[in-house]
Amino acid sequence: MVTRFRNQRVSLDTSPSLCKKIGFTSRSPMTDSRSTEMAQLDKFREECGVVGIYGHPEATKLAYLGLHALQHRGQESAGIAASDGHLIRLHKAMGLVGDIFTAPVLANLSGTLAIGHTRYSTTGDSALLNAQPIRVDCNKGMIAVAHNGNLVNAGSLRARLEADGSIFQTTSDTEVIVHLIAHSREQTLPDAIADVLRRIDGAFSLVILTRDRLFAARDPRGFRPLSMGHVAAGGSLTFASESTAFDLIGASFERDIKPGELVVVGPEGIHSRFFAPAGPQSACIFEHVYFSRPDSVVFGRSVNQSREALGRQLAREAAVEADIVVPVPDSGVPAAIGYAAQSGLPFRVGLIRSHYVGRTFIEPEQRVRDFGVKLKLNPVRSVLEGKRVVLIDDSIVRGTTSRKIVRMVRNAGAKEVHMRISCPPTISPCYYGVDTPTKRQLIAANKTVDQIRQFIGADSLAYVSLEGLKQACGEGEQTTYCTACYTGQYPTDFVSMDEIQPALFDPDIVPAD
Ligand code: SF4
Repeated sequence: MVTRFRNQRVSLDTSPSLCKKIGFTSRSPMTDSRSTEMAQLDKFREECGVVGIYGHPEATKLAYLGLHALQHRGQESAGIAASDGHLIRLHKAMGLVGDIFTAPVLANLSGTLAIGHTRYSTTGDSALLNAQPIRVDCNKGMIAVAHNGNLVNAGSLRARLEADGSIFQTTSDTEVIVHLIAHSREQTLPDAIADVLRRIDGAFSLVILTRDRLFAARDPRGFRPLSMGHVAAGGSLTFASESTAFDLIGASFERDIKPGELVVVGPEGIHSRFFAPAGPQSACIFEHVYFSRPDSVVFGRSVNQSREALGRQLAREAAVEADIVVPVPDSGVPAAIGYAAQSGLPFRVGLIRSHYVGRTFIEPEQRVRDFGVKLKLNPVRSVLEGKRVVLIDDSIVRGTTSRKIVRMVRNAGAKEVHMRISCPPTISPCYYGVDTPTKRQLIAANKTVDQIRQFIGADSLAYVSLEGLKQACGEGEQTTYCTACYTGQYPTDFVSMDEIQPALFDPDIVPAD
């Protein structure tokens, strides 16, 4: 039995201990081998992106292109399920979208309806098992499900289903949804899906495919984005995690799926219903800070607009005497443009990012200091030499990468380095579909801003305020936001006590490099 307390100190259904007992994988906070890679990148990781296409002769190709546009939301596995009206065909594999879906693979996935999924996951066989969409043939017919988010009550639901005889094929929380649909006593599939959506808790933006219908739904708090569009020719409908996917397939953005809404598209047309009453929204503000592409409209607002506004806000809140503004590419660029515009300082490209770094690399035997970061970033000495630099980044998670970047900029001749971060200090892990370290590993949960400044070796360090963040992202205009990773105030009942403990002299947060 899982004890529940609101917003604090208790066990999340997907806590590592419970998950271990029932063989269930907790997808966040991250506790597996991803931590090694995260330590290198020092960024939160989005888990998934989803697309759905209804009523198009080339539905599979459009789903493929949509996944291409959403590749930044997950780079370890991808899948497409397509229906020709009789059969749902599925292909999923580890790797990047462009590598998985070759012309022969796409040719075998014919149909006029398709859903797709791209995922960030662990490596190995279990990861392929957990790749999505998940397809089953159950008492409600053939169904394929693709999910962006994380269910916070999946552990207890799974335990109950297993006690009732369900046999799970994967360790993914998404399979719980499939089993619940099969178990629902509702007579029709739309009613069964609505019934299940009322019973699951947490973050879910879902696309569900049957032989002749496509369902799209968002959780009542609207944590993760999901938009609807249409392709003018033929009136096909499209769904995607971010609107940038529509641009690539020539679709027009129509609207967001609303929190608590279930949209059903089928032979009888398009129908919308609300499976849960509207409640306080908790859209993930980190989509605007970092996850989503700047060319997307997310939660009714341009991501680029939010990021530039964050940069301007940062300049108002934390101005400093300097010569140039330099972004940490790529995600720091829009905020740096905003900071430069507000401060009147010149925007300069002082760091170049390599986009061609693969997963594996061979380090020279004679150790090169900061080798991992140097593979990805290189300073432009002619820009930095002798300058007082305002360095703009979107977040500091553990601080290790920031330290290396500051050192790199100094070594390239910068006279002063003033670090500015376009979000508040990250002090708590996420339970809603984002890979994060535990609180012990979040530097801002365990050190003051000045201690972090010392750790990264900057001359000054400042973050944008929580109020400034909300204002820059248009809080209250179209949506209200979840800011739990900056406040520790979670909008759902379940959090893990283990994960929210700060470090007490934990050496892990100051790793040797
Ligand atoms: S905790 Fe942070 S990353 Fe997670 S949903 Fe809330 S704002 Fe987004």
